[in-house]
Amino acid sequence: MIANVLTTIRKRSLTVIGAALLSCCFMTPQGALAADCQNPNALGTSRTLVVDPREHPRIGTMQYRETLPLADHEVVLTFDDGPLPKYSNQVLAILASQCVKATFFIIGSQANANPEGVRKLIAAGHTVGTHSQHHPLTMDRMPLERARQEIDDGIASTLAALNGDKSKLAPFFRIPGLMRAEIVENYLASQGIQTWSADFPADDWRHVSPQRVYDLAIQRIEAKRKGILLLHDIQPRTVAALPRILATLKERGYRIVHVVPAAADRPATPTEPQQWYLHPPSETVAISRWPRVPNFVFTETRTLPAPVLADLDWRDAEMLDHAPRTRLAPVRRTLWPQPRLAQLAPMATLPIPAADVFRVPEALGLTLLAARSPGGRKLAQRAPDAAASSAPRAQAISARQARHPKQAAHHAPAAAHGKGHADAQPAAQPKPNGRPLHIAKRAPRAEASAIAKRVAD
Ligand SMILES: [Zn+2]
Repeated sequence: MIANVLTTIRKRSLTVIGAALLSCCFMTPQGALAADCQNPNALGTSRTLVVDPREHPRIGTMQYRETLPLADHEVVLTFDDGPLPKYSNQVLAILASQCVKATFFIIGSQANANPEGVRKLIAAGHTVGTHSQHHPLTMDRMPLERARQEIDDGIASTLAALNGDKSKLAPFFRIPGLMRAEIVENYLASQGIQTWSADFPADDWRHVSPQRVYDLAIQRIEAKRKGILLLHDIQPRTVAALPRILATLKERGYRIVHVVPAAADRPATPTEPQQWYLHPPSETVAISRWPRVPNFVFTETRTLPAPVLADLDWRDAEMLDHAPRTRLAPVRRTLWPQPRLAQLAPMATLPIPAADVFRVPEALGLTLLAARSPGGRKLAQRAPDAAASSAPRAQAISARQARHPKQAAHHAPAAAHGKGHADAQPAAQPKPNGRPLHIAKRAPRAEASAIAKRVAD
């Protein structure tokens, strides 16, 4: 049974497990350092993780998909903006008392001012990366040339403090203020430098109490249960909060991991790709088990026939009708199929309407004129009952106007200038023979309803 289980474990997994065991327990510098630790109750450094920046150029879930391949309850400590002797030395002492190793991101100008502080970090066994020359908080909108200058100068200043010994400087960089930009990250990656964001800050650069720094650090670590903690070794509140943070981490079963870069004589710790995710996809994540999209193979390259217009259904026609309103290309209606003679033939058999259907009642012409006048328009806009009761008066007015067609035509523009009549039609102009033109055809809606009422009556 056990043999069967073992045979199902992939060879690579065995390699990873073996390497992890070796790295955490036997082969790391920490193995030797643990013996040097004077504090039997120290938190200690549980293992050293060797990473290859070229394989994982961006880490830290505050900004990136990947983070360090840590196990549950493993934390990496990082400190930015030093060295500043007053506080950096205290941080160094606290870390030493707990026998933990951290990563420091150095500001070049600080290294120039205090090169001894950089050498102390190396002497104590910590990892040293860089954090630009002047700590600009504008790298997200800085021209690449200026960003390059900041990065390169920061490295040069830190290297100068280390007497030019490149082996002592890790190719790790943290962008000031985490103001990331892709061109900056791409430049760093092209130089083989790993961009470090973080998994949880403690807001120790803000004007908050040491208690608040402690609370935020512990709450955020507990929320993710593993990751990179971002602190600053130039802040008094950090110095005050750090001992309690380390003590609480120990109480709650957390372990500190020291990170170093891969080198010719120090290969990267073997890892699986999913270990670089804070919460790697598991069997319970449905998306990891969606069926793959089939890869269709077409046996013929012959093109399909284009659809003809007759294949379009009514929805297409409706869409084309709306096309001008939605600013699509105007539709050429002549493209629609025209009816053939064979289709027209049955229409000829329809009954011819009687002549009196088209007869206009004599009173209608007068009513039309009444509707054009201001009085008539008011009647049409009133409630139907009120309009009906005033019908005789309307008819009287329209009869008078009918006798004076020119006068009636002059009344219409006055009504059209009224507020809310933007769509009013131009006044009917009289023909030389005195008859108004196109009244019925251009009647607005109010007039049309008035006409309909008269006809119904
Ligand atoms: Zn900083």
